[in-house]
Amino acid sequence: MSISQINGQRLLDNLHALGQIGALPSGGVNRLALSDADRAGRDWTLARMRELGMRVAVDAIGNIVGTYPGTEDLPPVMMGSHIDTVRTGGLYDGNYGVLAGLEVIDTLREAGIQTQRPLAVAVFTNEEGARFQPDMMGSLVYVGGLPLPEALTTSDADGVSVQTELQRIGYQGTATVGEPMVDSYVELHIEQGPVLEQLGLQIGVVEGVQGISWTEFTVEGQSNHAGTTPMALRHDAALVAAQVTVFVRELSQRLGGRQLATVGALRLSPNLVNVIAQQAVFTVDLRNTDSGALAQAESDLHAYAQQAAQAEGVRITHRSLARFEPVAFDPLVVNLVEQQTQALGASYQRMPSGAGHDAQMLARVCPSAMIFVPSVGGLSHNVREHTEPADLQRGAQLLLQVVLALANRPY
Ligand SMILES: [Zn+2]
Repeated sequence: MSISQINGQRLLDNLHALGQIGALPSGGVNRLALSDADRAGRDWTLARMRELGMRVAVDAIGNIVGTYPGTEDLPPVMMGSHIDTVRTGGLYDGNYGVLAGLEVIDTLREAGIQTQRPLAVAVFTNEEGARFQPDMMGSLVYVGGLPLPEALTTSDADGVSVQTELQRIGYQGTATVGEPMVDSYVELHIEQGPVLEQLGLQIGVVEGVQGISWTEFTVEGQSNHAGTTPMALRHDAALVAAQVTVFVRELSQRLGGRQLATVGALRLSPNLVNVIAQQAVFTVDLRNTDSGALAQAESDLHAYAQQAAQAEGVRITHRSLARFEPVAFDPLVVNLVEQQTQALGASYQRMPSGAGHDAQMLARVCPSAMIFVPSVGGLSHNVREHTEPADLQRGAQLLLQVVLALANRPY
């Protein structure tokens, strides 16, 4: 049997049509979660699901799930992503995963193909977290990781709650959160980074999402005259901040593998040219795909920070700003993505995701994985976000083949 081919032009047309909603004059899109533009994007997507003969359900956190029946009444194989954007977002982040899912349904519908398991396409609420925190809110609630009442009472910077906005835009639905139960989940997404482009590869077979540890350090030293205080008598907060900054770079090289380490924010006070810094407040961002290595990096960092503070005679304290364990995707789905990539004759590598995605939440309740396509210049969360049409089409074709294999696999 020949393999159905997705309609690449239709996919591109739909990406551009949805990209018109909340379009910015500079190019790109502003569809913040639960805004009027988000409502219009949801309306458009829901109408498209109905056109395809999908059964559509909206739950109490506003997640939209369209289901296309299978020959058997089983939990569906789910595709999907999100259609909310940051304030200056692009056309592809999230939208691509949703619209490629709908393109898969359209292709199968036209070919008169029905899979054994049903297929579903999900649009998860507030993935970006640009207006309401936490990010990945809809998928986190879907898998039971965040209580619904807590999510609904979350407010934006103006004090407007998720519940108020869901009701205002007409997307607080009645479907039970967490239904349908999902057989497996595949999310197609642009890479949002430069790795595939740099290596000249067409597909990223995503094995997991790296863990994140954010820590803020505060160093308390003694401010004094830069001209009259001998070096040996100083208690310099800036020095310790600088030493830790150098240390984390060395740490990432020493631990090797996929350890990333960044000092991204640093404030000195009084921040004057001729005064030794009394205080330094800085952040350290550590990321690793391996949870043991991430914990090791954290303990090495804290040990070094204490030691550097002691040597300089200053006090150092810290608080955690965020901590997420790495997520490993299910080998069943990851291997299937790899096999289908090979069947398609596409060049690829296995890789972790540097950013968070709804798939890491779904991974808590069902076998899940992701597919990446290259981002031109590695740009994302940027109006200049771009992926070449051929790459967009290839990714959608791969998605089709992966869900066919998943939905028809023996059980
Ligand atoms: Zn996204």
